[in-house]
Amino acid sequence: MADDTIFAKIIRREIPTDILYQDELVTAFRDIHPQAPTHILIVTNRTIATTNDVQPEDELALGRLFTVAAKLAKEMGIDESGYRLIVNCNRDAGQEVPHLHMHLLGGRRLGPLVARPG
Ligand code: 5GP
Repeated sequence: MADDTIFAKIIRREIPTDILYQDELVTAFRDIHPQAPTHILIVTNRTIATTNDVQPEDELALGRLFTVAAKLAKEMGIDESGYRLIVNCNRDAGQEVPHLHMHLLGGRRLGPLVARPG
């Protein structure tokens, strides 16, 4: 079933996960393998495989990713120190889960934007 990603199961609360935020468009929860003191995933409730698959009708949900990221960054106390928002698409970006999501990372100096080749 196309909707059966691990994130879809979290959204439907079939997998117990501490949900930090949920509304009719997006859901946020902590990454299971955090790469920074704050590492939250904000996912679209609709299963969109990658950014290649976004539709005009998704624009409200895609905008909501940012407003929820800003709200959570403030709640986590990293809005002033700073944070990084990342959306990976497909193999070269290392996308693991085919369900559109934004990473909210912060709480330490995050270093260069991308890893050097090699
Ligand atoms: P991607 O590489 O697709 O942009 O990021 C997928 C992220 O999902 C990874 O950082 C990974 O640690 C996280 N992840 C994968 N499976 C689970 C899970 O079952 N629960 C949570 N909370 N995070 C997950």
